[in-house]
Amino acid sequence: MAQSVSVIGAGTMGNGIAHVFAQNGFKVSMVDVSLAQLDKAIANITKNFDRQIAKGTITEEQKKTALANITAYPDMVEGVKNAELVIEAATENAGLKLELFKQIDSLAPKEAILATNTSSISITKIAAATGRQGKVIGMHFMNPVPVMKLVEVINGYGTTKEVTRQIVELSKQLGKIPCVVNDYPGFIANRILMPMINEAICSLYEGVAGVEEIDTVMKLGMAHPMGPLQLADFIGLDVCYSILNVLYDGFGNPKYAPCPLLVNMVTAGKLGVKSGEGFYQYEAGNKELRVSARFQ
Ligand code: NAD
Repeated sequence: MAQSVSVIGAGTMGNGIAHVFAQNGFKVSMVDVSLAQLDKAIANITKNFDRQIAKGTITEEQKKTALANITAYPDMVEGVKNAELVIEAATENAGLKLELFKQIDSLAPKEAILATNTSSISITKIAAATGRQGKVIGMHFMNPVPVMKLVEVINGYGTTKEVTRQIVELSKQLGKIPCVVNDYPGFIANRILMPMINEAICSLYEGVAGVEEIDTVMKLGMAHPMGPLQLADFIGLDVCYSILNVLYDGFGNPKYAPCPLLVNMVTAGKLGVKSGEGFYQYEAGNKELRVSARFQ
C-alpha cells in the first residue's frame, strides 16, 4: 500500500493526520493555501512529538526521523504529484471540497486513492466531481488524531471493495481501528453525536438545567469522558452547526434543525475553544474549566 501520502489542509485535523503518517514511516507532503498555517502545523506537530517524548512513548531519534518525513507545500501541483494516497482535510465546505477534488483528480497520479476527512459531506457527491469514483473514499479521523483510535471508513456509492480493503489495512498499519460504514448524511459518528449535542443545547435553551448540570449528568451518568456542551466547544460550534444542517437537509427531518441558541452563538462568533468562548470560557494559560458569564 501507499508509502507516499499527501495531506491537503494543515489545520486541526491535517496536522494530526500528517503526524500519525510520518510517525509510521510514510513520506508526507502537507499542502495548505496558507503559509502561516503550514508553519503553525509544523510547530504543532513538533510540540505533540515532544509530548510523546515526555510520556516515554517515542524517542528523540524517532521524533527527528518522523519530522524529516514531512515536507510542507503551499502549492498543490508539487504537493500531490507523487502521491499514492491523498487525504483531504481542508475546511468543511461542500463547494470548496468539490473544487479541490476536481483539482486533485487532475494533478495526482491516476492510480492514487483520494480520501476525504469530511465530517459530513457526501462522499458520493465528492467522488462525482472526479473521474475516478471507485477510488474515492471517506477516511474520517477523530480529533486529536494522534490520540484517538477510531477511523470511520466511509464507502461512497461507487467506492470499490479493493479500495475499502486497502484503506482498512492502512488504518490498521497506523495503529488505528477502522469501522466501515456507508455514505448517508452524518455517516455514523455525527448522525448519532450531533443530535445528542443539539439536544443538550436545546435543554440549556429551554432552561431545563445549566451548563455544568447538563455536562455532569452525561459525564457521571453515562460515563462520557466529556459532557456534550464541552465537547461541542471542543469540536467548534460552527462545525456542529454545519453538520446539523447537512443532517437536516439530507434527511428533510425537522428533528435535526440546529437549536436557535446554537444559531445565535455561531452568529455572534462564540465558537468554543477556537474563539475563546462558547458554553465555557477559555483563557490562555488557564486550565480550569469555567462556565461562560452568559450562562452563569
Ligand atoms: P481547520 O479550519 O482547522 O483547517 C482547515 C485548513 O484547510 C486550513 O488550514 C485552511 O487554510 C486549509 N484550506 C482551506 N482551503 C484550502 C485549499 N483550497 N487547499 C489547501 N488547504 C486549504 O479545519 P479542521 O477542523 O482541521 O477540519 C478539516 C476537515 O476535517 C473538515 O472537513 C472537518 O469536517 C473534518 N473533521 C474535523 C474534526 C474536528 O474535530 N475539527 C473532526 C473530524 C473531521
